[in-house]
Amino acid sequence: MSKHNIPRIYINSEINIASAILLEKNHAHYLKNVMRRDVGDKVILFNGRSGEFLAEIISADKKSVMVNPTTQTRPQDAVPEVTLCFAPVKNAKNEFIIEKATELGVKAIQPVLTKKTIVDKINLEKATLTAIEASEQCERLTIPEIFAIERLEKILNNPKYADYKILHCDETGGGKPIIDALSVQEKGGKWLILIGPEGGFDKSEIELIAKNKNAVPVSLGPRILRADTACISAVTAWMAVLGDWQKSPSFSA
Ligand code: SAM
Repeated sequence: MSKHNIPRIYINSEINIASAILLEKNHAHYLKNVMRRDVGDKVILFNGRSGEFLAEIISADKKSVMVNPTTQTRPQDAVPEVTLCFAPVKNAKNEFIIEKATELGVKAIQPVLTKKTIVDKINLEKATLTAIEASEQCERLTIPEIFAIERLEKILNNPKYADYKILHCDETGGGKPIIDALSVQEKGGKWLILIGPEGGFDKSEIELIAKNKNAVPVSLGPRILRADTACISAVTAWMAVLGDWQKSPSFSA
């Protein structure tokens, strides 16, 4: 069986070869009742810190499944240092943005409150579940961290982001085309990709971002993109130029 047909599960516990793990009820239900797996079948496990492991189901009933890790299939890898910072939109679109940003490879997601932000909350539990499911599906070895929503000013002044470049996606014409702007940057730095709300950033916010010495204003082309399209386009361009898209998926079992 190809590795890609083996169910892949994120667990938040240690994984060691030959040290059996009792899976949580939701995973047991998924394996047994949804994927119809049983004793002897294979499962892939990862925990976001120790790489990826092939495991065998050693006991299974309707409510509990025990697995035994047999081989490490991949060591832990480094995640590109990029955080997507976007103003939440409607719930379904937030889910979509989180799912796609996870697949594209962001390290973290920072929702931002701006003057024109319409949705001022984000359900962190649901958002994290979306990120976990997307990570399981796309063969990531980590789950992107999702931070609580913060005001734009607070994010710009947060010492945590002091050494981050800020990729300001600016539809008002203040920046170079994104590929031109990124191509002259060195690889290996930390980046925050900043996308405004449906109504765009307020003029005072654009001025505030421009004052930040690390801000790199960019254009995503001549059309005004919806916020969700802008998020995905900007992360895609960043990944292709400064991220890890030189690598290919691993096909070894
Ligand atoms: N100002 C518009 C408005 O009043 O609705 C559009 C805002 S746009 C829907 C949301 C965000 O997507 C913007 O704040 C910007 O960060 C990003 N964006 C959309 N199109 C863009 C473009 N062509 N270039 C750069 N950023 C863009």
